[in-house]
Amino acid sequence: MDKKSVLVIGGGAAGHQIAYQLRDIADTTLVDPKTYWEVPMAVPRLLVEPDALAARIPYASFIGSAQHLQGRVTALNDASAKVALADGSQQTLSFDYAVIATGSASLDPIIKAQAPTELQRAAELLALNKRLRTARAVVVVGAGPVGVETAAELRESLPNVEVTLVHGEGRVLDKAPSKFAGWAEKYLRIKGVNLVLGETVTTPSVSKQPGDGKVITSTGRILPADAIIWAAGIRPATAFVADSWPDAVQANGLVKVDSYLRVASHPTVFAVGDVTNLPENRLAIVAGLHVKSVVGNLKRLIAAETPSQTKLKPYKPALPGKGSGKLMIVSLGRTDGLTSVPFGQFRISFLARKIKSHDLLVGMSRKALDLR
Ligand SMILES: Cc1cc2nc3c(=O)[nH]c(=O)nc-3n(C[C@H](O)[C@H](O)[C@H](O)COP(=O)(O)OP(=O)(O)OC[C@H]3O[C@@H](n4cnc5c(N)ncnc54)[C@H](O)[C@@H]3O)c2cc1C
Repeated sequence: MDKKSVLVIGGGAAGHQIAYQLRDIADTTLVDPKTYWEVPMAVPRLLVEPDALAARIPYASFIGSAQHLQGRVTALNDASAKVALADGSQQTLSFDYAVIATGSASLDPIIKAQAPTELQRAAELLALNKRLRTARAVVVVGAGPVGVETAAELRESLPNVEVTLVHGEGRVLDKAPSKFAGWAEKYLRIKGVNLVLGETVTTPSVSKQPGDGKVITSTGRILPADAIIWAAGIRPATAFVADSWPDAVQANGLVKVDSYLRVASHPTVFAVGDVTNLPENRLAIVAGLHVKSVVGNLKRLIAAETPSQTKLKPYKPALPGKGSGKLMIVSLGRTDGLTSVPFGQFRISFLARKIKSHDLLVGMSRKALDLR
């Protein structure tokens, strides 16, 4: 009997693992416009020290008998997808099952890798790093986990640079577990980060660098800045799904899924990670839970003689503040951080350091691919 075919659309935090786990079980194809997965958790440190971590992992190093096509899916139906390949050609791929794992793009491409090759990505990180190293002052926009981690890395690695963190809400980490905001604000103030809360940056415009050594906020406040890191704002990369199936995508770009993480009314196509419309945090940790569920159900379907009668296992959402929805670690430099697990929130440096802050989960991500 021929192997079933699985198309994985997007090789980010979720998609690279699905392709890896199904590589020998199905005729698996991964489509992504890049040649590598970059561990997103590592980015705050890569900005200050571009060579600090082996965070870029080429698909070719782990995908085995699966196939990576460098390109972008542009249209989808229940049994095939159109792909615009990096060489400019088009291809139509048929599948038995597909998984949409196209995640979210950050407003500033430096924050989440979009460069097609590792070399290009390394070069853009190096260019920003040069700018940061010669800056007198840097503004970080957005005090969610990425902005807070970035501000902490900047203070630790570039102590002569003045760092200002601008956030539209009244507290940093306002969507994180309840104790994180107070802990993070105290840490940042002690380390000398200037906090500007309840304001947004109006000049320069989003994802642009300041040309004249300053940024202006919504209250007219002028802040010195030779560089800006835009750590706020992600949007789901689902335009091709909305074009193909308008009813399956919400106005905010999130894909409607059923209790098995299948796209509503399209049972051969699953969706995972940041694109899903579940009331969960947009986190790699949550994407990992989606991977476990979808890989389990795909294995059941692939092994079944009559897939339409196969009983699938429902996915239990990780609701924020409940059970696995409480999982979050915010690193504060290389040796400190804030930890939330199902049984409590902890301000214990060595705990955060051991799990995350020392290498920002690069080692764990490589190990999950049997790489050193
Ligand atoms: C700087 C940073 C730090 C973070 N730190 C943490 C953390 O510490 N802990 C945590 O749990 N989460 C963290 N996150 C969040 C986490 O990275 C995301 O939740 C996670 O990456 C989502 O995974 P995903 O697979 O859904 O999508 P993504 O990882 O966004 O991957 C999507 C992939 O799809 C590809 N793609 C896009 N469009 C197409 C298309 N049309 N066709 C084919 N491919 C396409 C992209 O190239 C990309 O590779 C962080 C995010 C950032 C940006």
